[in-house]
Amino acid sequence: MKKTGVIRVQMGQTCLICETRKLQGFNLFNSFVCETCEQKIVTTEAGTEEYTEYVHKMRGMMTGH
Ligand SMILES: [Zn+2]
Repeated sequence: MKKTGVIRVQMGQTCLICETRKLQGFNLFNSFVCETCEQKIVTTEAGTEEYTEYVHKMRGMMTGH
Protein backbone atom coordinates (compact mmCIF):
# COMPACT_ATOMS: atom_id res chain seq x y z
CA MET A 1 0.00 0.00 0.00
CA LYS A 2 1.32 3.36 -0.97
CA LYS A 3 1.70 5.72 1.88
CA THR A 4 0.55 9.20 1.12
CA GLY A 5 2.15 12.10 2.87
CA VAL A 6 0.41 15.10 4.23
CA ILE A 7 -0.18 17.60 1.50
CA ARG A 8 0.96 20.95 2.70
CA VAL A 9 -0.98 23.78 1.23
CA GLN A 10 0.95 26.95 0.88
CA MET A 11 -1.18 29.58 2.55
CA GLY A 12 1.18 32.40 1.95
CA GLN A 13 3.84 33.90 4.11
CA THR A 14 4.03 36.70 6.61
CA CYS A 15 5.37 39.89 5.13
CA LEU A 16 8.39 41.32 6.87
CA ILE A 17 7.29 44.92 6.35
CA CYS A 18 3.56 44.96 7.10
CA GLU A 19 3.52 41.68 9.10
CA THR A 20 0.45 40.53 7.23
CA ARG A 21 -0.01 37.08 5.74
CA LYS A 22 -0.02 37.39 1.99
CA LEU A 23 -0.11 34.98 -0.92
CA GLN A 24 1.64 37.18 -3.43
CA GLY A 25 5.10 38.49 -2.89
CA PHE A 26 8.75 37.64 -3.13
CA ASN A 27 11.42 36.06 -1.02
CA LEU A 28 14.52 37.97 -0.24
CA PHE A 29 17.30 36.84 2.08
CA ASN A 30 15.06 34.12 3.56
CA SER A 31 12.39 36.67 4.32
CA PHE A 32 9.16 37.49 2.59
CA VAL A 33 7.93 40.83 1.32
CA CYS A 34 4.43 41.08 -0.11
CA GLU A 35 3.57 42.63 -3.45
CA THR A 36 2.04 45.68 -1.80
CA CYS A 37 5.16 46.47 0.22
CA GLU A 38 7.41 45.75 -2.71
CA GLN A 39 5.50 48.42 -4.62
CA LYS A 40 5.74 50.78 -1.66
CA ILE A 41 9.49 50.34 -1.47
CA VAL A 42 9.82 50.92 -5.18
CA THR A 43 7.64 54.05 -5.18
CA THR A 44 8.77 55.59 -1.89
CA GLU A 45 11.20 58.43 -2.31
CA ALA A 46 14.62 57.99 -0.79
CA GLY A 47 15.19 60.18 2.24
CA THR A 48 11.63 60.04 3.52
CA GLU A 49 10.78 58.59 6.93
CA GLU A 50 8.92 55.71 5.32
CA TYR A 51 11.85 54.84 3.11
CA THR A 52 14.22 54.82 6.07
CA GLU A 53 11.89 52.41 7.86
CA TYR A 54 11.90 50.03 4.91
CA VAL A 55 15.65 50.21 4.60
CA HIS A 56 15.98 49.37 8.29
CA LYS A 57 13.73 46.35 7.92
CA MET A 58 15.53 45.20 4.81
CA ARG A 59 18.84 45.58 6.57
CA GLY A 60 17.59 43.50 9.49
CA MET A 61 16.50 40.89 7.00
CA MET A 62 19.96 40.63 5.52
CA THR A 63 21.74 40.39 8.83
CA GLY A 64 19.16 38.06 10.33
CA HIS A 65 17.86 40.32 13.08
ZN1 LIG B 1 3.69 43.70 3.22
